[in-house]
Amino acid sequence: MSEKTQPRGATCEITSPFEMVQQRIDAICERLKTCETCHLRLRECERELIVHFPVKMDDGRIEVFTGYRVQHSDIRGPAKGGIRFHPDVTLDETKALAAWMTLKTAVVNIPYGGAKGAVTCDPKVLSQDELERLTRRYASDISLVIGPERDIPAPDVGTNPQIMAWIMDTYSVNKGYSVLGVVTGKPIALGGSKGRFEATGRGCTITAKLSAQHLGISFDGATVAVQGFGNVGSVSAILLAKEGCKIIAVSDSKGGIYNPQGLDVEEVRSHKKATGSVVNYKDAEAITNTELLELPCDILLPSALEDAICAPNAASVKARMIVEGANGPITPEADDILGDNGKFVVPDVLANAGGVVVSYFEWVQGLQSFFWSEDEVNRQLQMVMDNTFHEVLEISQREKVDMRNAAYMLAIKRIEEAMMTRGMFP
Ligand code: GLU
Repeated sequence: MSEKTQPRGATCEITSPFEMVQQRIDAICERLKTCETCHLRLRECERELIVHFPVKMDDGRIEVFTGYRVQHSDIRGPAKGGIRFHPDVTLDETKALAAWMTLKTAVVNIPYGGAKGAVTCDPKVLSQDELERLTRRYASDISLVIGPERDIPAPDVGTNPQIMAWIMDTYSVNKGYSVLGVVTGKPIALGGSKGRFEATGRGCTITAKLSAQHLGISFDGATVAVQGFGNVGSVSAILLAKEGCKIIAVSDSKGGIYNPQGLDVEEVRSHKKATGSVVNYKDAEAITNTELLELPCDILLPSALEDAICAPNAASVKARMIVEGANGPITPEADDILGDNGKFVVPDVLANAGGVVVSYFEWVQGLQSFFWSEDEVNRQLQMVMDNTFHEVLEISQREKVDMRNAAYMLAIKRIEEAMMTRGMFP
């Protein structure tokens, strides 16, 4: 089984993630009676660049890789979104991820549109030198469309601050001068922002806490299961544990671990660092990714890949609330089932928006050449997440819709207003 399908529920087969996003956009635009131009434009991506490029491997062979950079919208500002390195990533998936970024930046009201990039490759089997050559050639090929004022990449699944540094350097060398603002999620030494690395997990923790308060669940001692132990899942697990939650299960692409008494998450992180996976951690029993999603717990954080919870396994989810650390981990059909079962879902475009919010802070700090303390970054992030959560909750209560529909309504209204105000060329 491929790594991508592994973390999903056993029977989740999704053909077109982008069509799923289009269906959700259609439903909201119809409900809101969004102007037709806006609706039609939101259904498509503005630009889709496909690149096929050669990379010299360590053994002297040449391999040709395929990559993408998709700009879904730049109506509210420069397109913004991460770059994914994954063996199964496709153009269709990149388009869906780009569209979610447009909605996400509009939900949290930062002056960006949405984009996403990807290279179909397995970064886990590439050497550091191969990864650098692949990144630099991809960056050079997509330089046609990126730039600090037009489209600003950042890390996503399979990429990290070092990869952002190579992209920034490659873009700068091609330009002939240093362009720090071309990517966010950079290392601190190169104009990265304090708090950026933890920002997505911190945002998930903030929205989980606000949801618990709203539902009357005591956060102290709340039981949590986290699918995915990458940047989002591991940081969320650590911060939630610091807030008093009991992390009973975590997983990665190789499998999961479960201890109903609670895991020592810092120790699990050290174990993963040493062995490459959370599996075989001593104080826990082995479980599969599918089993993790069905554990009895208060809070479930699907923080791996898309479509983890779909029609066949949605009814087995026992958690009272689900915080989408990943992008698109719940299919529309599963959403309906969870809703019917009274589950409270914090949608990706709100729950995991902390990352792009602090990317925005990084970009602003870089433009001003004035860098904030970590406390200041976290304070501003808390404020944005807090305000946005309450705005979305208010719409959800007023319009009697779930949090995802409420977030989409807020986003699409903002995008429509910007589009109508700009007018259309020619
Ligand atoms: N890849 C992250 C996301 O999906 C961060 C994007 C960014 O910071 O631009 O939100």
